[in-house]
Amino acid sequence: MYKEAIEAPSYRGEACLCQVLDRKGQALAWAIYSPGGTLALRIISTEKKPPNSVFFTQRFQRAWQLRETFFDKSTNAYRIFNGEGDFLPGLVCDRYANVAVLQFDGKACFEFWDSNLVAEWLLENTPVTTVYFKPRFSDDLEPQWWGQKQETPSVEIVENAVKFSVDYQTGQKTGFFLDQRDNREYVASLAKGKSLLNLFSYTGGFSLYAGVGGATSVTSVDIAPEAIKKSEEQWALNELGADSHEGICQDVFEFVKGSTQKFDIVVVDPPSMTHSEKTKHRAMQSYKDLFTQAASLVKPGQHLVLSSCSSHISFNDFLEIIDEAMSASRKMAQIHRISGQGMDHPIPHFCRELRYLKFVHLRLQ
Ligand code: SAH
Repeated sequence: MYKEAIEAPSYRGEACLCQVLDRKGQALAWAIYSPGGTLALRIISTEKKPPNSVFFTQRFQRAWQLRETFFDKSTNAYRIFNGEGDFLPGLVCDRYANVAVLQFDGKACFEFWDSNLVAEWLLENTPVTTVYFKPRFSDDLEPQWWGQKQETPSVEIVENAVKFSVDYQTGQKTGFFLDQRDNREYVASLAKGKSLLNLFSYTGGFSLYAGVGGATSVTSVDIAPEAIKKSEEQWALNELGADSHEGICQDVFEFVKGSTQKFDIVVVDPPSMTHSEKTKHRAMQSYKDLFTQAASLVKPGQHLVLSSCSSHISFNDFLEIIDEAMSASRKMAQIHRISGQGMDHPIPHFCRELRYLKFVHLRLQ
């Protein structure tokens, strides 16, 4: 709940547990209260009793149980706690093999959650042997360790039997974009015998799946040299032939303007282009221009795979952008698949805006 929606006491300390009452003084819920924060209340429970550490460990257990059942040995990297989606507001934890990376959605959630409780629970109840608290860039906090301290800043994982080496300390977010797992697997199923261009490739997520799926050639384009280097290393890690992958370190916007080569599959998964409603209109225009350019690099009758992780762009906005890009390209397309984030990134039914990831597979005329 936003601060405008509530009447709060004049408390100025750290974020804390609070009871939410209606106008008549009737108890409604327990929540994390962030004094001074725009998002003033994050609801934890509607039970009568205040949540305590037993209550929280039950929620941890509930989240873990489903992951433990869902994933088999071919995948040892997934999100264990997805904040509000697991009824654990602001608490994020990703598993990378034996390492768990902990993050909080803002300083208030860092202040509220007992990191020791979370870390100790993970070490006792999951295969994780190391817990690493990774502050976000804006947090102004020091990293922290529990369990065995890792000597190397990367950890090898498997995802649907594809191998990756994740730089969880220095990489983006918690190190890897786990939310695209199902979509990567889907792209692998299209890739046999095809050439694939992966724009905004980061460490080569879609590229590697395509390689393992039997693509004849894969081109990865990203502006970050360390991401391109990593995608090449991981190509070798999966024992794929070096001459079937080309890593290009370049600005995608320049690449798409300059490229004349055409591909069977073009994947476009850019970083978020808008972090506010104010810049949404401009972002929609940029997505449209980018997707129009990308469509021009697809061979006739072949595949364009588009994604957006911006929570300010809804699924309807995204489909509208696609319509406009197709009109600008003077092309018709079939939509074969619309999807989003995987099951380890659940959302509460009352907070659908947390369904941020959009993924659309088009086959062009
Ligand atoms: N598709 C990836 C995730 C992409 S994250 C995966 O599945 O893992 C976004 C990536 O875009 C980052 O690696 C970032 O370095 C890159 N990037 C941002 N702006 C860019 C630009 N203008 N040109 C090329 N790459 C860019």
